[in-house]
Amino acid sequence: MIVVLLGAPGSGKGTQGAPLAEHLGLAHVASGDLFRDNIGRGTELGKLAQDYIKRGVLVPDDVTIRMVLDRLTSTDAAGGAILDGFPRTLAQAQALDMALAKQDQRVDAAPLVEVSTEELLRRLAGRWICRAAGHSYHEASNPPREPGRCDIDGSELYQREDDTIEVARKRLEVYFEQTRPVVDYYRQRGVLFEINGEQSIDEVFHDLVDALQATRTAA
Ligand code: ADP
Ligand code: AMP
Repeated sequence: MIVVLLGAPGSGKGTQGAPLAEHLGLAHVASGDLFRDNIGRGTELGKLAQDYIKRGVLVPDDVTIRMVLDRLTSTDAAGGAILDGFPRTLAQAQALDMALAKQDQRVDAAPLVEVSTEELLRRLAGRWICRAAGHSYHEASNPPREPGRCDIDGSELYQREDDTIEVARKRLEVYFEQTRPVVDYYRQRGVLFEINGEQSIDEVFHDLVDALQATRTAA
């Protein structure tokens, strides 16, 4: 099963993506995490992506598409994947469809996690993530048990350079201009469903699990 988790920056894709993938036995493939991993390791791809990410704009399609499609060929993704943060443009959505079609696969479900702009900005400004695996926390609504430490792996928490209010606003602008057409693309294919992302983390998780299990049963 291939799931495309849609939603604006800050809507909770990362928070839901990892536990959801584990629950459903799928790989969690987050394009932002892949870029940050490359930046951390100082690779050529990381050096190229860094400047775009810092400014809150999209990394060019060709590089992004190659990186994500390559990740999807890993053995842990053989049973399916939850894509988080990809596709963000129509060209990326089309490239994904073409690659999947070659293996007789398709995007089975595209849940859209909806959150108001005001709440998105509040969440991004208070977000802390862990160095080891990108687990996401919020200083007010989802704090770690021990300040500055990840509950799951104990690694240090830090604030992303692109979570400042100026860059966050830019990222939301980019989302509405370049990524919203992707929502319509999946709606037209009949795989889109909306989830209320302003509920508690547990409630959002249950809505996602219910909807995805129904999709799996119907397939
Ligand atoms: P995305 O991956 O979509 O950019 P994250 O999963 O990192 O978003 O979540 C953004 C911020 O919002 C984080 O600080 C996270 O802890 C917090 N958050 C996620 N889901 C909820 C929720 N349902 N209610 C309140 N805060 C949330
Ligand atoms: P995220 O972790 O999903 O918030 O992504 C962080 C940043 O990585 C974005 O603001 C973009 O600069 C870049 N990025 C992540 N995914 C993509 C994508 N699918 N296409 C282009 N750029 C991306």
